[in-house]
Amino acid sequence: MDGKNKEALKEIERLTARADEVQENILKEILTQNSATEYLIKYMKGSKNMLEFKQSVPVITYKAIRPYIQRIANGEDSSLITSHPITEMIMSSGTSEGKPKLMPSIEEDLDRNMFFVSLITPIMNQYVPGVDEGKHMYFFFVKKEISTPCGLPVRTASSRLLQSKHFKRQAQDPSNDNNTSPFQAILCSDISQSLYCQILAGLIHRHQVQRLGAAFASILLQVISVLERNWVRFCNDIRTGQLDLMITDLECRSCMSTLLSSPDPCLANEIENICSRASWKGILCQLWPRANFIEAVITGSMAQYIPALEYYSDEKLPLVSNIYASSECFFGVNLKPLCDPSDVAYTLLPNMGYFEFIPLGEDGTMLMNVGEEDDVPNDKLVDLVQVRLGCYYELVVTTFAGLYRYRVGDVLQVIGFHNCAPQFRYICRRNVILSLDGEKTNEEDLQKSINVAKKLLEPYNVLLGDYTSYADASTMPGHYVLYWEILFHGSSKADDQLANIAALDEKMLQECCIAVEEELDYIYRICRTHNKSVGPLEIRVVEPGTFEELMDFFIDQGASINQYKTPRCIKSEGALKLLNSHVKASFFSPRDPKAATPTIVDSTNVYNVIM
Ligand code: AMP
Repeated sequence: MDGKNKEALKEIERLTARADEVQENILKEILTQNSATEYLIKYMKGSKNMLEFKQSVPVITYKAIRPYIQRIANGEDSSLITSHPITEMIMSSGTSEGKPKLMPSIEEDLDRNMFFVSLITPIMNQYVPGVDEGKHMYFFFVKKEISTPCGLPVRTASSRLLQSKHFKRQAQDPSNDNNTSPFQAILCSDISQSLYCQILAGLIHRHQVQRLGAAFASILLQVISVLERNWVRFCNDIRTGQLDLMITDLECRSCMSTLLSSPDPCLANEIENICSRASWKGILCQLWPRANFIEAVITGSMAQYIPALEYYSDEKLPLVSNIYASSECFFGVNLKPLCDPSDVAYTLLPNMGYFEFIPLGEDGTMLMNVGEEDDVPNDKLVDLVQVRLGCYYELVVTTFAGLYRYRVGDVLQVIGFHNCAPQFRYICRRNVILSLDGEKTNEEDLQKSINVAKKLLEPYNVLLGDYTSYADASTMPGHYVLYWEILFHGSSKADDQLANIAALDEKMLQECCIAVEEELDYIYRICRTHNKSVGPLEIRVVEPGTFEELMDFFIDQGASINQYKTPRCIKSEGALKLLNSHVKASFFSPRDPKAATPTIVDSTNVYNVIM
């Protein structure tokens, strides 16, 4: 291991061993630097005292900070919330009251985030020696930059990193060309052209690629889907040494023409042989035979893509989920990258921001979910080093750029410690996603239920590709609707897929409906069986490609492909219309779910529902 890698690992040890001291210093620094801001003066009257901070500064959601951010976006001084000039706004994938959330960012955030990212290779190197050798096929995307009314750039956190001088310098350094994607292709804001060129470049370098990845697992599945539809074109480009005319971006054409400088029929035949096989099981290992692992976030809502990635890698490539980060702040890294997907935990790095936690439940049981608008008493929060093993928390962050006691919206569970720094399992977004009559189904509940139901598909050689849900209150009583895109192994042609949907076994899908319901919580089942206030759950099977269209729909509305995660619940009318227009079959629960003992204790809710 080289000196740089060793130094990075030592730094992780130093930071985690003194997590409490590092956190205290971070808060002290933030308060010292920002005590004269309008926001902190309002609550702390110029004090820099940490106790005063904990007593007087409220725990907030985006709604409370938005007016300040809006004023800065319109041209008022950054000193409303931070002593540093706000140099740009980072666009989060989250929305608040129908508008994208903008997060303030200062120059030094870039250094902090670069430091964070620089830890990943040294961590990996401990488990996969020589990990930075060979080529990486990592799909990066940049979103078109927009600006606020006063001209501040608005970008996603990843676009910011990719467009930074540091990254550009690295990417243009000929001695440092270890990513297969040409820099110009990454920077092309036409996502389809960028993706086409990045895949083609990955295929050209197929024998050197040692690591495959993207920010999220969903992006890799999109790569496979584009590959499935375009492999003949890719082979043609390689065979002739000519880039497909569909790529019109000049920068893309110029960088790809260097890569395609001479026809390579031999490589084209190899790829054609692999892609024309009836089954694509293990295709990733066949196309990139030297790949050691797949890197992408596979926790939270991404967990549902694990079976598909395992299928396409024939379970031969470890899935590595390295990073837990957001637009507000980069949080933690996975120190055991080769662990089983179900054991992934992120160690929060105590120098990234000041972290506090809203307790949500004791050992292994999540007792409550604090709603978006619920007040959180200031003295309820615990510090990073005070969290306890097994307990659930909601993450709250304070940053140099002007977020104070800001509820990130993520629910985490402590599953271990590295030195003094806790390691968290990502559980879900705070928000309840489905609710018709007092029952509150969150993303994790839904995911767990779907995990059970989709097992019923396995004997039929089918996979759940993607899903979302909708609480349909237009029926009497209202009912949950799940949109399922089902993949049939071994058939990639759209016509075959449609024929397969038509032949789906009704009983099997009905059993999936009831399996989901029986896994949903006690209160849901009371609503269904006792109160009859929720009707039988429905699964609507949509045609292949629907979820890709859904993604395009959200990207057109301003979402970024780098951050895109299929929403697990649909609220937008346009998206719903799109989904409904692709429904090919629909199935309902054939009976009432069995009642069972409560798993989530929330006394007010049980009371409301039963009464
Ligand atoms: P954004 O601000 O749009 O980049 O989204 C950040 C959010 O994505 C976080 O607050 C999490 O909810 C989710 N997220 C980021 N990293 C992970 C991860 N490793 N596992 C699960 N969810 C994640």
